[in-house]
Amino acid sequence: MQHLLNLSNNDLLAWLKERKHPTFRASQIWQWIFQKRVASFQEMENLPKQLRQDLTESFTIWSTTIAKKTVATDQTQKLLLTHHDGGQTESVLLFEKNRRTICVSSQVGCAMGCLFCASGLDGVDRNLTQGEILEQMLLLQRLLPDDERLSHIVMMGMGEPLANLSHVLGALTVANDPDRLGIGTRRITISTVGIPASIVKMADYPLAFQLAVSLHAPNEALRDRLVPVNKNIGLSKILAAVDQYYEKTRRQITFEYVLLSDINDHTSHAKELVSILRPRNAMLNVIPYNPVAGLPYQSPSKQRLAHFKGILTEAGITLKVRHRKGDEINAACGQLRRNNAQTQKKELYSIEGEKSPERKSP
Ligand code: SF4
Repeated sequence: MQHLLNLSNNDLLAWLKERKHPTFRASQIWQWIFQKRVASFQEMENLPKQLRQDLTESFTIWSTTIAKKTVATDQTQKLLLTHHDGGQTESVLLFEKNRRTICVSSQVGCAMGCLFCASGLDGVDRNLTQGEILEQMLLLQRLLPDDERLSHIVMMGMGEPLANLSHVLGALTVANDPDRLGIGTRRITISTVGIPASIVKMADYPLAFQLAVSLHAPNEALRDRLVPVNKNIGLSKILAAVDQYYEKTRRQITFEYVLLSDINDHTSHAKELVSILRPRNAMLNVIPYNPVAGLPYQSPSKQRLAHFKGILTEAGITLKVRHRKGDEINAACGQLRRNNAQTQKKELYSIEGEKSPERKSP
């Protein structure tokens, strides 16, 4: 049984031809799945019975089980998904005015080892397939009322997207396709700790997605500590690749900076950040740290945050402070998976053991 979402349009066309079905059926099948949000092939009413039967015998739409679903007071919804091999990842749906943003995972676990992150605590198990990445988008879309659409995608969940570049670009290209999710490239962000060779490849890709670089430290010594993979890469190479991306795409670069109390929030750090950002067409997202059980880091106080922000804004840096939504449901990357076995005292409610709409085609 193949996962249909791993197929390209050409793969599906070839399969239809081989089975002597007309090829115009391919776009109908994609529409049913991506736009009409059906859960099974049997619901595809305008397809002949024989085609529905052939699809059911050859493919599955769903390869995961929803192990847990949580909903926060601010409406943020988070899914903990169990994959066919038992690996678990997290996906989040965020509501902000008329935006419906989804945060999607690219790997089971993460090898980058950022010291303050729950996702990297146990290393990486494997890359997700294109189909597994797309399936998260479909499952999150199904949480919306019928008259609402997904508006933004951020590849900012579990894993390092640029360590799984081909599957991530494949899935995002499908998400961008007007006949499928139809989400514009300016509304799709790939967030990375910075893998220069992959950033350069992205610069040559036909679609220019938004690039966000998780900086977290403004100098090599501190970044080597907070983002250990930096020791093998180095900030200067990352910034050179980012500049190349900007030259080719003209897309403003976003830098992400998780603010950790008394670690990377000193006056000197803010001034070093100014010198990195001022020469570039860039914006900075400052994210006050969301504490993770078992890790020693703290959120900065309001005063420290205001002081840090003040230095940057006075220097003319475009900056937003982004508070994590859904804090009480462990919306920070990797926390839900890590805490799955424990009772979540602050959850509003949780639905355990809920199945994906169609685990296997009937
Ligand atoms: S912050 Fe992102 S890159 Fe760093 S360990 Fe966590 S998931 Fe990986």
